[in-house]
Formats: sequence, C-alpha cells, structure tokens
Amino acid sequence: MVLRTLLRAVIVGPPGSGKGTVSDRIVKTFGLKHLSSGDLLRSNINDKSEIGLVARAYIDQGQLVPDDVMTRLILQELKVLEQHCWLLDGFPRTVTQAASLDKAYQVDTVLNLNVPFETIKQRLTARWIHPASGRIYNTDFNPPKIPGIDDATGEPLIQREDDKPETVIKRLQAYEAQTKPVLDYYRSNGVLETFSGTETNKIWPHVHAFLACKLPVVNKTETSP
Ligand code: AMP
Repeated sequence: MVLRTLLRAVIVGPPGSGKGTVSDRIVKTFGLKHLSSGDLLRSNINDKSEIGLVARAYIDQGQLVPDDVMTRLILQELKVLEQHCWLLDGFPRTVTQAASLDKAYQVDTVLNLNVPFETIKQRLTARWIHPASGRIYNTDFNPPKIPGIDDATGEPLIQREDDKPETVIKRLQAYEAQTKPVLDYYRSNGVLETFSGTETNKIWPHVHAFLACKLPVVNKTETSP
C-alpha cells in the first residue's frame, strides 16, 4: 500500500458534536496542521489587521464573513503549510468557498461528524450556572445536589441564553441549513466520509482507523483507540 504523505482534509460537525476533541486527537496522532477559520479570524481581530477589522463587523452581527475575504485569508495561510498535511476546520462554509479551495488544492477527504440533534441538545443544555459566584454545574457530569439549586448558597441556578434549548435548536438548524450544500458538494465529489454516533470516544476509533489507512501514525500514546 502506498501511503500518501500530504493529506488534505476538512472536518465538519455542528457545535457540540465533539469536533474540537476529534480534531485535537487527529493532530496529536497523525501530526496534521490544524487550521481553524474561527481561530484565524479571532487572531486577526486581536491583531487589528485589515482583514480583522473587516471580519469583525460581520462576526459581531452574527453573519458570515464574505467569501472573497475568507478565501483569501485561508489560501494565504495554506501557502505556508504547503509542505504539510493539514486539517481545515470551519472552512469552507459555503459552496463558493469549497469551489475556490478546490481550485487551489485537491481535498482528499471531508470528515463529517454526524451526531443526532437530540444528543447535542442534551450536551449543550446540560450546563447550569450560579450567576453570583460563576459556579458551573453540568447535569450529566457534575450535577448540583438538588436540581436547579446551587450547592453552596441554596440559590437558583440559571442557563446562559446560548445554552437554552430553544437557542440550541436554532443554532443547530442554522448550522444544518448552512452546511448542507457544502456536504452535498463534497458528497458529489466522492470525498465525504461520514462518522455517526452519540459518543466521541466511540466515533474516534472509526476516524482513527480511516485515517490510519492514509497516513502514518506519528504518536501512538494517549489518543490511540
Ligand atoms: P467559528 O469559531 O468557526 O464558529 O467562527 C466564528 C465566526 O467567524 C462565524 O460565526 C463566522 O462569522 C466567521 N467565520 C468563520 N469561518 C468562516 C467561513 N469559513 N466563512 C465565513 N465566515 C466564517
């Protein structure tokens, strides 16, 4: 079997799908360079770069940064990574971005984490906060002794706006509407690889096995399934 040395991959998954954890494990195990469009934009905003100033106006309004700005930024970063395998995260978000990326690089595989909405909703809505102290509880891993009540003060706990079920459902629906055309694009190109499940630790061995056929493992410890 011939192992291709320069794998170009994209990872896609809704908020709460475990994409961050899986990306970290891929990077540690296979030594890919991870490029997150959100992180890149935030660092440009911090640096007050020209692109950062443009991007901020859109991000603050909850809108996507225009395709031409985004594509220029990502392609510029990928030039630096020309000699490396990479994992793109958060880009492409539109079919126009996907087509521009295709013109510059051959995307070998798109890892799509498919976690049921109900599971994600449960994960994202599990966080409860005691506003006065900032104490955080998680109803799955670290529940308060009495549901909805702070252990130390007996005061009621609240949910952040972002963690409320109705907000989470809206975020997931927006994600699905936005991402579907990109997934369809890659499906029709034959590079979409979907990994379904409800637990990151059960999805990971499948991602690992899939990538291990394409890439040498550089680090066997800690993240091996
Ligand atoms: P993220 O951390 O990936 O959720 O990105 C934060 C924000 O950056 C998003 O809500 C968008 O406004 C913007 N953004 C990130 N990636 C892209 C992209 N590929 N295209 C357009 N806007 C993006």
